[in-house]
Amino acid sequence: MPEPATSQPDVIVIGGGLHGCSAALHLSLRGAKVLVVEKDYIGRHASGVNAGGVRQLGRHVAEVPLSVASMALWHRIAELVDDDCGFESHGQIKVAETEAELDQGRARVAQLNALGFTHEEVADRAELRRLVPAIADHCVGAVVSRRDGAAIPYRTTFAFKRKAESLGARFAEGAAVTRVARSGTRWRVETADGGRFEAPVLVNCAGAWAGRIAAQLGEPVPLEVIAPMLMITARMPPFLKPVVGATGRTLSFKQFPNGTVLIGGGLLGRAVPDENRTELDYAKMSVNARTVWDLFPNMRGATIVRAWAGIEGRMPDDIPVIGPSGTEAGVFHAFGFSAHGFQLGPIVGRILADLITDQTTDLPIDAFRIQRFRQTAVAA
Ligand SMILES: Cc1cc2nc3c(=O)[nH]c(=O)nc-3n(C[C@H](O)[C@H](O)[C@H](O)COP(=O)(O)OP(=O)(O)OC[C@H]3O[C@@H](n4cnc5c(N)ncnc54)[C@H](O)[C@@H]3O)c2cc1C
Repeated sequence: MPEPATSQPDVIVIGGGLHGCSAALHLSLRGAKVLVVEKDYIGRHASGVNAGGVRQLGRHVAEVPLSVASMALWHRIAELVDDDCGFESHGQIKVAETEAELDQGRARVAQLNALGFTHEEVADRAELRRLVPAIADHCVGAVVSRRDGAAIPYRTTFAFKRKAESLGARFAEGAAVTRVARSGTRWRVETADGGRFEAPVLVNCAGAWAGRIAAQLGEPVPLEVIAPMLMITARMPPFLKPVVGATGRTLSFKQFPNGTVLIGGGLLGRAVPDENRTELDYAKMSVNARTVWDLFPNMRGATIVRAWAGIEGRMPDDIPVIGPSGTEAGVFHAFGFSAHGFQLGPIVGRILADLITDQTTDLPIDAFRIQRFRQTAVAA
């Protein structure tokens, strides 16, 4: 049986991905005693194996205020976690291959401007070529978010863990939560290896498995377990600084400083969450490769050296659940980041700390209420 990680934690966080570690950090900064319970090891799942894209570009409108606030934290990330997390800001770009796609981009930028957001802008053909000299001739322009960038996922998650730990947070790894139950005014958490922990506040950051915790709390959600895939090439001569996506096709494309090129964008393999396993779909990966072939002629001789997938939770409306439980006092959720939660990690931990310590937050989180699924879950 593991040693109780803190004798009397104020908060138990289930899940040691970026969101759980960020919650632990922000709560520790406010003096709360936090215990994170992780079934495998910190950063084992989506937070450690993702593409590292730090993107405001193309966000669901409900996510934009959170994404903008998170980006401010990313640009000072070393002040928060004593590590730059490998964060580099060379912008993110969504390429338009046709005039119709560029018109979509113009409409999107106008929509954001009307809401008071100016981080996305339209780039014409010449500006696109200045930013991405290797782009194929047929591309007509792009939407650009210049302060966006990318970071190293596992290093980031671990930096949040390490900083939280230095402030007193404790981490129980290899401890799968099997049961959560109310015990008077406290929450009792039981783990598969015989651990028993109690605290007045419980936070559900269990990623693709978070629906199981929510169901135990009487609020089932239609969380789909997905397996986004990535592949990486052998080293290429340097040709690209920003992260590049496409308007009409699935793509996330970036070159690391060591020359390797990461190709992804959300095409899915198959997840086997009970076995911590994924299966790749090679036919879909060839679609991804074809997109790269079309948009970057210099990649036609590239060699793919490795491919993998991570396990992630997706909600039907593609935006996460963030906020208090709809059924139980003292419970908070942050899960279902639908394959774009890495960039939001720094701010979501702060929001959870706001909600837990101040009972409110200055960021708009109504759209992320778990109660929005009540009807669907009842019907299901
Ligand atoms: C291949 C891939 C590429 C991606 N690319 C990007 C990107 O470029 N940009 C971006 O913003 N986002 C990206 N994402 C999404 C991003 O990685 C996730 O949204 C984010 O990491 C989710 O973090 P999390 O902490 O909620 O979940 P996770 O990192 O999955 O952490 C949840 C943790 O909870 C633990 N857990 C679950 N159940 C229990 C239990 N019962 N007891 C104890 N522990 C439990 C799990 O073991 C896990 O470690 C990508 C995802 C994938 C898979």
